[in-house]
Amino acid sequence: MSRVIGIDLGTTNSCVAILEAGEPTVIHNQEGGRTTPSMVSWNGDGEVIVGAASKRQMVTNPTRTIFGAKRLIGRKVSDPDVQRVLPLLPYTVVAARNGDAWISIDDEARSPQEVSAHVLAKMRRVAEDYVGETITEAVITVPAYFDDVQRQATKDAGAIAGLTVRAIINEPTAAALSYGVQNKGDQRVAVFDLGGGTFDISILAIENGVFEVLSTSGDTTLGGDDFDRALILMLADEFQASHDVDLRGDAVALQRLKEAAEQAKIELSSSMNTDVNLPFIAIGPGGPIHLMRTLSRGELERACRELIERLAAPCATALELARCTPADIDQVLLVGGMTRMPAVQDRVIEIFGKPAHKGVNPDESVAMGAAVHSGVIGGELQEVVLLDVTPHDLGVKVAGDRMSVIIKTNTSIPTRESKVFATTEDNQTFVAIEVYQGAHAQASKNRRLGRFVLGDLRPGPRGATRVEVAFSLDADGILHVEATEVGTGRAASVTIEAASGLSADEVLRLGEGLR
Ligand code: AMP
Repeated sequence: MSRVIGIDLGTTNSCVAILEAGEPTVIHNQEGGRTTPSMVSWNGDGEVIVGAASKRQMVTNPTRTIFGAKRLIGRKVSDPDVQRVLPLLPYTVVAARNGDAWISIDDEARSPQEVSAHVLAKMRRVAEDYVGETITEAVITVPAYFDDVQRQATKDAGAIAGLTVRAIINEPTAAALSYGVQNKGDQRVAVFDLGGGTFDISILAIENGVFEVLSTSGDTTLGGDDFDRALILMLADEFQASHDVDLRGDAVALQRLKEAAEQAKIELSSSMNTDVNLPFIAIGPGGPIHLMRTLSRGELERACRELIERLAAPCATALELARCTPADIDQVLLVGGMTRMPAVQDRVIEIFGKPAHKGVNPDESVAMGAAVHSGVIGGELQEVVLLDVTPHDLGVKVAGDRMSVIIKTNTSIPTRESKVFATTEDNQTFVAIEVYQGAHAQASKNRRLGRFVLGDLRPGPRGATRVEVAFSLDADGILHVEATEVGTGRAASVTIEAASGLSADEVLRLGEGLR
């Protein structure tokens, strides 16, 4: 049997770990880094470059260097979260046949699954070089707030990269696993995960090796990229005010500004001041213009104040769902590169009343937790049990566009729940089951996951024919829905998997292209 690797497929960086003698170990990539930029470039001659080498091309090859594919995976172009990031992307996002957000490179549309597959394939090769054998299985982590479609799309990315995805686990849960196997003892932990793209907060109870997720909450539109964007906008507005040139209109200038903004943000985590130096960033009527200024930590914090404010509400929700107060939390674990920002750490102290635990590496603990989980699946770590929850309400649309919830948010998974519905018209011969996810009482305001039809119902007056709709949610958070006519037992079912946007054939074809 091949070894199972744990992969943290991050918005900005990815990391791979493996279990060795019961201990999770992070594997260095070929360039010597313990994490690898989640970036993929296509060169003019069709060559594909992944990781640090791709990041180096960002400025010279901006329209063919793809970063942040995780923000697009399993989403429609019309999705407000996608619309929000589009204006500052140097590459082109196009709508696929079903409206999914794909990326156009040299007029060829590529799915975010394919882009992510290149990153996963790189992580796979990193692990193969280390263990000296072929790897075909992985545990991949996703943000707790990823929905069914995004999870399935991530699984497809794994399949394209030649990996059987043994499990999809939530990033905060993974971080808690890696902490918990190294810090034994019963305790309650809050995992505060602020990465490049998303913010997740989970509260877990660890008791006798059982890791029970009590609650999870978050904000899928709050991450390091947003801090960069706040800084980019501040600098671009300032530049426009003094020179009457909008840097946002020039892909190369924008890319340089993006890189400089992120760099400045990172430096200001350890220094009070830093310099932003962008010579020849634009050409004005009087010749070349340079962007050169000193930026202070205070200025960064002011530009990002609203983002830092937004960290509190999901924490309050998670505490409430877990029926905890901040005093009940024994440890706060910080995950994600953005938690290195001092203002974020100060906010954590304000929210939880205590500083965070210092022992976890925010860049590596998620991959290490994925490796721990591979040991749980493979039976190497028999003493560890993981109980996770679903972060969303799942239900069906009923008359009047109402959402009838079948599985409530924060229910432990795997789970199976059902409800019985009656026909709404006389002699109704079929029912269409429309599956939605989200907390809004109006179904159409939530995310639609899929639709299927149960036909050949027995004719009868309205209300007399009844249909049982059963939802099964597996441990990966993937939903299977079945509808059965009560009395006849006639059934129709669907696995919401189909909604990931790629057919099985496409996954196979892309996988062949990649090997
Ligand atoms: P992750 O997705 O966990 O790799 O998080 C990456 C995000 O963390 C990116 O937005 C980085 O710019 C940011 N980041 C990394 N290191 C630091 C640092 N020292 N200070 C502030 N932000 C950082």
